[in-house]
Amino acid sequence: MLDLKKLEVWFVTGSQDLYGEETLKKVAEHSKVIAASLNDSPQIPVRVVFKPTVKSPEEIFAVCQDANAAKDCIGIIAWMHTFSPAKMWIGGLKILQKPLLHFHTQFNRDIPWENIDMDFMNLNQSAHGDREFGFIMTRMRLNRKVVVGHWQDTESLEKINAWTRAAAGLNDWKGARYARFGDNMRYVAVTEGDKVEAEIKFGYAVNTYGVGDLVKVINETTDKQIDALVQEYADTYTLMPSLVKGGAQHQSLREAAKIEIGIETFLSAGNFKGFTDTFEDLHGMVQLPGIAAQRLMSKGYGFAGEGDWKTAALVRAMKVMGSGLKGGNSFMEDYTYHFNPDNRMVLGAHMLEICESIAQGKPSCEIHPLGIGGKADPVRLVFNTEPGLALNASIVDMGNRFRLLVNEVVAVNPLQSLPKLPVARVLWKPYPNMHTGCAAWILAGGAHHTCYSQNLTSEHLQDFAEMLGIEFVLIGKDTNLYQFKNELRWNEIAFK
Ligand code: MN
Repeated sequence: MLDLKKLEVWFVTGSQDLYGEETLKKVAEHSKVIAASLNDSPQIPVRVVFKPTVKSPEEIFAVCQDANAAKDCIGIIAWMHTFSPAKMWIGGLKILQKPLLHFHTQFNRDIPWENIDMDFMNLNQSAHGDREFGFIMTRMRLNRKVVVGHWQDTESLEKINAWTRAAAGLNDWKGARYARFGDNMRYVAVTEGDKVEAEIKFGYAVNTYGVGDLVKVINETTDKQIDALVQEYADTYTLMPSLVKGGAQHQSLREAAKIEIGIETFLSAGNFKGFTDTFEDLHGMVQLPGIAAQRLMSKGYGFAGEGDWKTAALVRAMKVMGSGLKGGNSFMEDYTYHFNPDNRMVLGAHMLEICESIAQGKPSCEIHPLGIGGKADPVRLVFNTEPGLALNASIVDMGNRFRLLVNEVVAVNPLQSLPKLPVARVLWKPYPNMHTGCAAWILAGGAHHTCYSQNLTSEHLQDFAEMLGIEFVLIGKDTNLYQFKNELRWNEIAFK
């Protein structure tokens, strides 16, 4: 996936001229130390760049203007080591278009009990300087993340980590292109949405491309390219005997490889970050893309089936946010339930297209008939997934706004092997429990399509939603249906 170290956040310290040269020198020294320490921390995935202390409305405006224009700058971390009268910040904050994290920290961890004097007090004022800064952002109704804690504290670093990853996702959406092959699955409601509003709000463009144009690219694939990819399949996966060279269905494996090469060529030529397809519009294609979608997702492309561009884009953004972390992110669908009262759970899967990045062990490459679509049997990767904490995220179009809905879950191993289930799958238990979790999801209008994440937390997605200025709704350990319904009701007013 993406190397997040190509991106940077700027560490900006606020002060004022009243303190004199000596104090301001110390402020700059300390800021440099903190910025360098954040930059060097393995917990922070992006570069942290020190910026000279800002002490006037002009300097503040200039740094915000520079941040807006800097291509690799995905956000600002602001800290008031001393007092920085916040009316100075109005002009800059008004034009700032990048996310802001307010780091409420202090250079000294401990009070130096023996030596503390008024010089120390004069220098270490963030306890009140940051309150002044906080006020102006609240007064201006600006979204930001406030992280409180010492700058060497693992807990503070983890919160900054989540925010930088969310900012990387936001940055990735700016100017991104998503291709739709075919429209929405007929009559389906939740996968529809306002693509114009999405471009205004999210920054990415979704446009349609004729399946025939894709088929043309697929058909230009050479035998040599197909040979190489089929060899890669054989080296990477356990091929079902009929798919092996000389096997009765080997030709279908070659067809699947041809589709994968064709789609990747199309996407890379058009600089797309993801795509959707639909089984109702595959004119000229031999199979529904199965292994192709699975592998392209694991290379970092966003994908969702049935024309669901909102989920395709979300899958991509979450892959960017999770870059370098253990575990993966995949397109997912709530498929079927286990309602045993002692052990209620959801089986998640899709017709075919679950990303290989969440696989446990070596996937098995198989071919089986597909009941819908009327095409030849598609090749797909079949696997189970790792147990552990995970989440499902869904963006829904509420008509007047977008809602990002997250359900924290715990993935579990299947109770038995599933020898006749020919698709990749995940079993999970929703928080706070099956009944409340699923009821809350349905009340919130959450889609059956989601991005399933093994490596992001609700904190990443909450930060992401706040940066986008959209509604965020969490179903987690503390969710109570009575409160939850009220939250949805109140949000109707808040987003009116
Ligand atoms: Mn589906």
